[in-house]
Amino acid sequence: MAESNVHPIEEDCCYYCLSCKVRLYNKEIVITYIYSPEKYLECTKCGEFFKSVFMVTQKSSADTPSHRCGNCSLTFGNSTQLLYHSYNHSKDWPHRCPFCNRGFAIASYLEEHNRERNIIRKTYCRKCLKWFQGKCCPGILRQLEGHIYCESCSPGSSPIEYMKS
Ligand SMILES: [Zn+2]
Ligand SMILES: [Zn+2]
Ligand SMILES: [Zn+2]
Ligand SMILES: [Zn+2]
Repeated sequence: MAESNVHPIEEDCCYYCLSCKVRLYNKEIVITYIYSPEKYLECTKCGEFFKSVFMVTQKSSADTPSHRCGNCSLTFGNSTQLLYHSYNHSKDWPHRCPFCNRGFAIASYLEEHNRERNIIRKTYCRKCLKWFQGKCCPGILRQLEGHIYCESCSPGSSPIEYMKS
């Protein structure tokens, strides 16, 4: 017999995984995002287990926010915004920059990021003071401030993709 500490889900509260949630279009429900890094929660619909789930409850009063993040209590106007926000907790971004590993909720944000990355920037090496050209992800130069080195001064791997001038 299987041992079980798992309590059955109360009838007025169900968990939905990301893919089952997208099929819910009822306006009379409250959706709360739950991220539980410690334990897996079962999706009521497909029966699979996830660390990131959306808890669905019946709407009780008109002023209840209908899309709420259970992890930080932020509320959202629609379930898409809540979904995008949920990636901040789960780090399960559907799109990711292979260079800086930053995650994005939608493809066009990543495209925008790539466009900025493809700009050839000119800066000088903080060590040998020579000017050089390179590509890097937006925000990286600011992060590196004081530690921006040319290819020859760079200590091994660098977030800058050096361009031959
Ligand atoms: Zn599911
Ligand atoms: Zn949150
Ligand atoms: Zn990047
Ligand atoms: Zn240098």
